[in-house]
Amino acid sequence: MSVYRGRLAPSPTGLLHLGHARTFWKAYERARDAGGILVLRDEDLDTQRARAEYAAAMLEDLRWLGIEWQEGPDVGGGFGPYRQSERYALYRAAWERLRAGGWIYPCTCSRRELATAASAPHEDQEENARNEIGAEDDEPMYPGRCRPARAAVAEAHEPAGVNWRFRIPEDRLVDGRVTDGEVVHFDDSGMGARTYVAGRDFGDFVVWRRDDVPAYQLACVVDDAAMQITEVVRGADLLKSTARQLLLYRALGFTPPLWLHCPLLRDAQGQRLAKRTDALSLRAMRERGLTPAEVRAMWLSDKVGGAALHK
Ligand code: GLU
Repeated sequence: MSVYRGRLAPSPTGLLHLGHARTFWKAYERARDAGGILVLRDEDLDTQRARAEYAAAMLEDLRWLGIEWQEGPDVGGGFGPYRQSERYALYRAAWERLRAGGWIYPCTCSRRELATAASAPHEDQEENARNEIGAEDDEPMYPGRCRPARAAVAEAHEPAGVNWRFRIPEDRLVDGRVTDGEVVHFDDSGMGARTYVAGRDFGDFVVWRRDDVPAYQLACVVDDAAMQITEVVRGADLLKSTARQLLLYRALGFTPPLWLHCPLLRDAQGQRLAKRTDALSLRAMRERGLTPAEVRAMWLSDKVGGAALHK
């Protein structure tokens, strides 16, 4: 049996709130109960939004809560560096493999449409289903303007200057029938069997941005594989990203980890917590005098309400 290796992958784009904390606590428990290793990876690729103060705050707040990690930017380890901004060469090598394999193509569509690519595309499936809308802040379905008619190896010495998109597979034979897009299937340890259809649930997604920043989907896969992560524990808002990432695992010849997506925590109005929900940031709760045990008691239900905000 290989050693369990889990990870916490916070982005330093704001203060961590109770929802993040609950998911990270779960990741911590899984690693601890398996007698394994927990890695903390600083996902600071979003150059527009990442800040060193937030990076320091997230380590401090997680440690205050009682979470322990054995590898990370502050403690070192054999799989570093643990800041994504220091791992460019690895992402670049993966880009080259995807290019040489004909998996990706350059896209010159407008910057505005592509603005979200460096951050993880958090979506809220339950809410979308309730409101019958498409994922609000998920990466928009790419209409295909720059997609070549058939897969081909694009000529380029370096990725910068255009966006690079992964060409999702289509026209696969599934159970003896031709489907519109490949069916991506995985078993989630908490949520059971999940099925997504490439081309219906997501389109050709960005793996590299024109400003020479690898997109979340690529960086995450490269790092989880390189750091030999055996189980990814993260929020249910990234379920669709898991489907995309499985396609990248296959293209890059990496073995995927196991998956555990955690339900999202909501406020009293049923809204998903956001980094802007300041009152529920770990920092604010700590400053109000709550103890780590009191904070942990708050997330036992899937909704957190008024009283919690006023201690
Ligand atoms: N840095 C990502 C985020 O904050 C983490 C995504 C992941 O766990 O894969 O959403």
